[in-house]
Amino acid sequence: MSDTLFAKIIRREIPADIVYEDESVLAFRDIHPQAPVHVLFIPKTPVATLNDLTEADAPGIGRLVLAATHFAKAEGLAEDGYRLVINCNRDGGQTVYHLHLHLLAGRAMQWPPG
Ligand code: AMP
Repeated sequence: MSDTLFAKIIRREIPADIVYEDESVLAFRDIHPQAPVHVLFIPKTPVATLNDLTEADAPGIGRLVLAATHFAKAEGLAEDGYRLVINCNRDGGQTVYHLHLHLLAGRAMQWPPG
């Protein structure tokens, strides 16, 4: 897949407010937050979209979700709750083609989403 701005954030070529990092996951605050807490969790090994995942990606996706849930607990967000979202392609609202998990918290979310 082609390079994205998230790959540049991983390489520290552009700045980001990084809140978590381990060997396979990087997390940073969204530049246009849609909630009081809006953090993006990205795999360091890029995958463009959910459609591109294979069986081999299953452990990495699990680590991505667990990183977000651990962050939510550590930040005291777990009891009130939060939302995890992965947008896919045009109708899903995806704008950056490096798969990422949005963690949204700090306000009551609407359902159904817009
Ligand atoms: P999506 O629409 O699901 O592809 O989400 C992409 C997200 O990346 C949006 O919520 C953007 O606000 C966010 N974003 C774009 N550029 C940056 C950046 N330089 N730093 C942090 N977040 C960004």
